[in-house]
Formats: sequence, structure tokens, C-alpha cells
Amino acid sequence: MINDTPRVRFAPSPTGYLHVGGLRTALYNFLFAKANNGKFILRIEDTDRNRFVEGAKENLLNTIEWTGIVPDEGPNQGGNYGPYIQSERLDIYKKHAQKLIVSGNAYRCFCTPERLAELRESQRKAKLPQMKYDKYCLTLSHDEVRAKLESKEAYVVRLNVQTGPKVKIKDIVRGTVEFDRNTIDDQVLIKSDGFPTYHMANVVDDHRMKITHVIRGEEWLSSTPKHVLLYNFFDWELPEFAHLPLLLNPDKTKLSKRQGDVAVEDYKAKGFLRESLINFVALLGWSAGDDQEYYLMDELISKFSLERVQKSGAVFNVDKLNWIQTEHIKNLSNEKILPYLKNQLVESEYDHEAFTNEYLMKVIEAMKSRVLFFSDFLERSGYFFKAPKEYDPAIIQKRWRLDTPEHLSKLIEAFGKLQNPGHDEFETALKATAESLGIGGGKLIHPIRLAVSGIGVGPGVYDLLAILGKEEVIKRTQTAIETIKIEE
Ligand code: GLU
Repeated sequence: MINDTPRVRFAPSPTGYLHVGGLRTALYNFLFAKANNGKFILRIEDTDRNRFVEGAKENLLNTIEWTGIVPDEGPNQGGNYGPYIQSERLDIYKKHAQKLIVSGNAYRCFCTPERLAELRESQRKAKLPQMKYDKYCLTLSHDEVRAKLESKEAYVVRLNVQTGPKVKIKDIVRGTVEFDRNTIDDQVLIKSDGFPTYHMANVVDDHRMKITHVIRGEEWLSSTPKHVLLYNFFDWELPEFAHLPLLLNPDKTKLSKRQGDVAVEDYKAKGFLRESLINFVALLGWSAGDDQEYYLMDELISKFSLERVQKSGAVFNVDKLNWIQTEHIKNLSNEKILPYLKNQLVESEYDHEAFTNEYLMKVIEAMKSRVLFFSDFLERSGYFFKAPKEYDPAIIQKRWRLDTPEHLSKLIEAFGKLQNPGHDEFETALKATAESLGIGGGKLIHPIRLAVSGIGVGPGVYDLLAILGKEEVIKRTQTAIETIKIEE
């Protein structure tokens, strides 16, 4: 380790949204920092002007803030190693490129796009295993270069990769990975618009920001040998590397937009809790070694280690995310859910002032193990807020018989005699009525549920009756008896 306090970073490019893979990278960096008494740095890598999207940076910062992964240093937090936005650091990169030119490890390339296109074409025709720059501009004499500079010819700065031993990378997740030097192109470091490429800016910043561990997605592994060469050329100490496994669609192809949402913002808009998303992405490539799948952030921090990150791709399974979300909602206190339900009631068709907190808390208690999103409280159990106007025809067909009205009349007669009944009193009364009618309990349970809720699913029927209360249950049942007509 470079020093005792690890410094790690999440270095997203603002593309317009935060990719779930980016969230996983941010989270693993954050967990590693917190677990090791280190610092988590957020750096915005916005040097690709072609990909500039208005408002993308702000959106990215807001989304990261929403996830609760709070940086110790970053554009909003400040810190001793700023600025934390690469487009504000251009002079630093130019200065460093200059140093590499002087030491012979980089050179100016004046080749026109046309020449490069021809070169690529001829290499393609010659069936070379990969396209590489042919170092033509390295053959220019000192005077030729000066003349071109004086006549203001456009140029890029390229890395000067020379023959030599394989470039070895020690990766915490993948072990030692080797790259043949002759597979490494003379990468552009500074573009003709004066902006650095990702490779240049990334390495210079990681060094200057004293990053000790580079933890990022596997898609960056092939860039790492270029980075290692840069560290060597600058004579800088290497950070440790950890490349996180690819995220895969269920059919094992690389996670793509085409097969589902990949933007954290989309999951947020659907109603996923930050806790659920964090829990879910934490398990995309890491486990504590047991089969625990429900985690809150604090426990993730205490259990996380890079050594337990897997090499093989991690399947992005939305069913699992749904399951995790239901677990998180189930484990929230009713008080925590209450304001969300109240907000939704205000925006709904229901009379939001008609319900006490006490009533709403009972609804939450009955429903929270049955919802996926907060919005489901109203969508799946609107009957707690308004008597049903319609009755599910499939349930009528399955559960309503010619003698059902008579049975239900007897049942509400029995309910009418109860004083302030709760779950147990409703249950006793229903069972006694069934017995006196000589029928099974189901003959009453299903029809009464349909009568009071209009549907065939929901919380336990006695809870349902207890929450609605005796008067409402009797009223609704009477309405159902009058409304539901069947022929047998
Ligand atoms: N800017 C790169 C990205 O968008 C950073 C990759 C890295 O962490 O080195 O993911």
C-alpha cells in the first residue's frame, strides 16, 4: 500500500445518467474506503467534448447524492487536491505531456485524419491483428517539428510505446495480468483541441490526487497497461488495481439498455429505495461468503473486502432487485412510511383528510409486506380509502354462489352484535356463523373479502375487517349483496 490511509476514487464521465455499473463502482470504492479508514474521492472526467451533454454533470452529482454515497472530497465537497472536475485542470495535463515529450516518452504527431484513415485501411487489408499508429511522426527531424509548430499545424501528443518486456499488472481481483507491448498502440494523450484523453487525465489525476487503489469496471482493464507505462515514464509509484466483474444480462450478454433499464435515475423514478439499490448492486460481484442477501449500508461497510470480489461476470437479475426492495420496505418502520403514504393520498382521488394517522398506520402494517413500491399502498389497496364500486368478475365467478347473499346476511347480523370488534372477534364471529350455517369458513371468507374490497387478494381477511371497522364492513357487504347478481 502506498500509505496507511487508502484514497480511492469514483471517476465518472457525465454521459447524462448514472449507469448501475457506475453505482456499483462508486459503492465498492466507498465501502473499501469506509472499511479501511480511507477517503473516497469523486472526480468528474469530462474531457471528451464530443460527448458533452448539457446538465449531465449536475444530474450525476444529484444522483450520487441521492444514493447516499457521500464523497469525502469532490466537486461539491472540495478538498486539498482539487479542482475535482477535469475540464478545470487542462494546464496540468499539458504540463505533464510536455514532460513526456522532453523525456522522449511521448511525441507530437501531425498526421492528418486522411493519412490515419489510409493507414488504418492498409492495415485492415494486410489483416494485421490490430490497428496501430506507425510512428511516422517520430521520424520527423527537430527542425521539421519546429517548422510545423511555427506554421500552427494541428497535432496530437502520442505515447511512445517501445519494445520491451511484457507489461505486468497485479490486480487484486484478477491476479497477475500480462500484456505484450507490441499490442499497445501509441495512444493519443493530448488531442488536437488541447484536451487530454481519458488515459492521460486519469493517470495524472490519480497520481496527483494520491489515489492508492484504482477500483473500476473490467472494461477498463485493457487500458491499464497504457496507464502502467505512463506511471513508469513519469517515474511514479503504481497504485493497486482492482477490476470489478462485468455486469451481465440474464442471458449472459453484457448488460445493455436494450434488455432493461441501466440508469439509476430510472430505478429511482420507478420507486426503488436507495437502500434497495445499494443492497442489490453490492451483491453484483461480491458476497460475504455466506448466503446473506439483505444488507444495510453499515453492515456492508463492516463486511466488505476486495478479496471477496469475484472474477466472473455478475448477472443483473431484476427479480432479485424486486425481492430486495420488498425486504427493505417490510423492514421500514410504519412511521417512516407514513409521510410517503400521506403525500400520495394528497395527490390521489381519495379524500385525504378523512383518515387519521392511526388508521393509515394500520393500513401500512397490513400492507407493507405486500407492496413493491410506496405507490402500491394506494394502487393495490385503494379499498382502504374508498368502498369498491366494482367487483372482480373472476372472483365473483369463483366465489359467489346463489346462497352467498343469504350467508353474508347472517354474517353481518353476527358482526352487528359485536362491540368494537378487532381481528379475533371477527374471526370468532365468522367461524360461529359458518358452523351455524353448516358450511366451511371459506364460503364466508372469500365472499366477504370480495364484498368489502372488490378483489380477491390482500391482507389477512380478519385484519382487513378490523381495519375497516364494523360499520363500514356491514355497509359494504350490504351494498355487495344488492349489487352482485349471478345466474347459476
Ligand atoms: N471516466 C471513466 C469512466 O467513465 C473512468 C474509468 C476509471 O475509473 O478509470 O468510467
